[in-house]
Amino acid sequence: MTSSDVREVWFLTGSQGLYGEDTLRQVAEQSQDIAGRLAAAAGSPVRVVWKPVLTDAAAITATVLDANASPACVGLIAWMHTFSPAKMWIAGLDLLRKPLLHLHTQADAGLPWATIDMDFMNLNQAAHGDREFGYIQSRLKVARKTVSGHVSDPAVLPRIHAWMRAALGATALRELRLARFGDNMRDVAVTEGDKVEAQLRFGVSVNTYGVNDLVEVLDSIDDAAVGELVKEYAAAYRLAPELAEGGDRHDSLRYAARIELGLRAFLTDGGFGAFTTNFEDLGGLRQLPGLAVQRLMADGYGFGGEGDWKTSVLLRTIKTMGAGLPGGTSFMEDYTYNLVPGSEVILGAHMLEVCPSIAAEQPSCEIHPLGIGGREDPVRLVFDARPGPAVVVGMADMGDRFRLVANEIDVVPPAEPLPRLPVARAVWRPAPDLRTSTEAWLTAGGPHHTVLSSAVGAEELGDLADMLGTELLMIDQDTTVRQFAKEIRWNQAYYRLAGGL
Ligand code: MN
Repeated sequence: MTSSDVREVWFLTGSQGLYGEDTLRQVAEQSQDIAGRLAAAAGSPVRVVWKPVLTDAAAITATVLDANASPACVGLIAWMHTFSPAKMWIAGLDLLRKPLLHLHTQADAGLPWATIDMDFMNLNQAAHGDREFGYIQSRLKVARKTVSGHVSDPAVLPRIHAWMRAALGATALRELRLARFGDNMRDVAVTEGDKVEAQLRFGVSVNTYGVNDLVEVLDSIDDAAVGELVKEYAAAYRLAPELAEGGDRHDSLRYAARIELGLRAFLTDGGFGAFTTNFEDLGGLRQLPGLAVQRLMADGYGFGGEGDWKTSVLLRTIKTMGAGLPGGTSFMEDYTYNLVPGSEVILGAHMLEVCPSIAAEQPSCEIHPLGIGGREDPVRLVFDARPGPAVVVGMADMGDRFRLVANEIDVVPPAEPLPRLPVARAVWRPAPDLRTSTEAWLTAGGPHHTVLSSAVGAEELGDLADMLGTELLMIDQDTTVRQFAKEIRWNQAYYRLAGGL
């Protein structure tokens, strides 16, 4: 699923009236230049829109209210080129509901030592103005990302782009509608959660539909459309001979196509960007949806198995954040381990539903029995995940808040081929090592369902968590279990006491 809406980040420049028209004209020109560099930068996922220089409280408040009301605006970048007395910003920042990035920069990277006079000093005083702005943001507990450095510095742009992507994710999350077909898998704890709290905190609306409502849509799908989609499968995948036209399981492939068309129609008609299924509640469905779910994920839909709406929400959000980037993003489940010292890895997969955006090669389309669900054999895509750096992230409801737990990982090729494993899978080495990673993950109460992404990383996830005011526990190269356990204890106090920074 793609959105054709062009999203914007607005570039705000702070100053004041005391400088006089000449200086303010220079401030405007130079801030337009900085905004223009950001707008023209390769890899920017949004349109950067320069706004006129802000010199008084009324203009600041009006701009913030415009930003709050604008569906296109996903966040604000603010730079105090000169001194902008920050009491002017109190009303505006207090009203701000969009993500904020404080860019601490200067018009030029180098100082012209031989010619510096007091005019230059007064014009180029972000060192002064941004400290005033930092103070008022901290005093008001405004969540923001602070990025320091000249925009020509190669370390600066990727950090701004990560924040922009997080802002796109937060926006998608606020607008998201999720359809659950059936409830949670019976007796499972970690896939449960407070849907009212999720809507208040994240904006996402999560509702359940009878699976037979979906079956009705399936039944109404035209046979010719099914035939067209089956042809598309034959072109896109290595089709098992028994599934091909004339093969004795071809009818199962046609039914899988019917599921895809029905699901797409249901989701499109309802404006849903994410969904869940539950193998315990399949109503009149003849197969557990496999291929259909895999292909919908590849198109950007969120998905969670066993009624897991939290992971589905997270998947949709992270897919939005990673749109257009190399790499892929999938629903994932920690399944089994290789615990041989020196070659420890996690083998992740699911019953069927792994997204082909992470596939190393053209997937093969196969049909195999499924011992669970009690229906006809489901069609699925089978492949190994593409090796390379990635991250896994899961969401748990701790009762008083949502907690994100993430782990930086390296996806690796399987040590040997897996000829008997009839599902798509990923093999990875978690940072810093399997023992530390799993001890930390279990100590955090992280779930078995995750989102695996090779498109976005720790920086984007950190920015998203900050925007949402949600806890993120990151397991990476620097993690020790001892320190991690302390972080969890400190967070317990922090999230009860703090409303922000
Ligand atoms: Mn599962």
